[in-house]
Amino acid sequence: MTEANIFNHIVLVWFGLAGAIFASLFFIDAPYGRYGSREWGRGIRARTGWIIMESFSPAVFAVCFAFGTYRFSAPELLFLALWQAHYIHRAFIYPQFIREGAKPMPLAVVAMAIFFNGVNGYLNGRWVFTFSGGYPNSWFIDPRFILGVTLFVVGFVINRESDLILRALRAPGESDYKIPRRGLFRWVSCPNYLGEILIWGGWALATWSLAGLSFAVWTAANLVPRARSHHKWYLRHFADYPAERKILIPYLW
Ligand code: NDP
Repeated sequence: MTEANIFNHIVLVWFGLAGAIFASLFFIDAPYGRYGSREWGRGIRARTGWIIMESFSPAVFAVCFAFGTYRFSAPELLFLALWQAHYIHRAFIYPQFIREGAKPMPLAVVAMAIFFNGVNGYLNGRWVFTFSGGYPNSWFIDPRFILGVTLFVVGFVINRESDLILRALRAPGESDYKIPRRGLFRWVSCPNYLGEILIWGGWALATWSLAGLSFAVWTAANLVPRARSHHKWYLRHFADYPAERKILIPYLW
């Protein structure tokens, strides 16, 4: 079997796994942050966990670039820049700025995230720089690319702004929860997740690939149930939680 065959099989399995994760997360909340629990075994500081697990994504993508066949057209270089900008921020900048909660991150969560980031980085990096057959410079003016990159950038801004609003809710050393009221939090409980889903939806469109689509599906599979749980959690914990606020999509859900 060639690597291309194995790659195609992994992509199919990857879609199936995302479906299983989506279904299971309606019954079990991923046990980090407010749902963290010692029942999931030993844990480490959340900041350390984020650095370790997320650093696999830029590393694997960089290796795929280094060994790729198609690397130097303008779209390929832009894909490299977008991916690395997101993940270098997520792995090395975001963790420095979180105000850590009281609960550690279970090593089981870190291990699962490393597995996800390794496979996902491979699928997307190997697709973009090798199995795509290369993106010609003319892809730069294709509507799928333009709309996809626009969604990516809009999602990136929404995600970062929302995570910063959450961070500002806690003073240094604090670990309790408050009602966020600024930015897109006026309309939805989890705009940071909305931004993340837009980022990878945009990526799927711009790369026009099953690998990219599988990442967008995984992101939604993780974050849609978690947004629903966060919304319910806010309603349970704050009697004055804004009644008109939706879960993830302004005015709709
Ligand atoms: P959360 O919104 O659960 O938490 C983000 C940070 O804000 C945490 O430090 C949390 O503290 C703190 N926080 C959250 N709500 C409040 C509040 N009401 N008051 C005070 N502090 C609060 O996000 P996640 O930790 O799940 O995700 C972090 C980032 O990673 C997001 O940008 C998300 O989009 C991204 N992500 C992407 C995934 C993907 O599949 N692509 C999967 C998971 C996350 P504490 O930890 O104590 O709860």
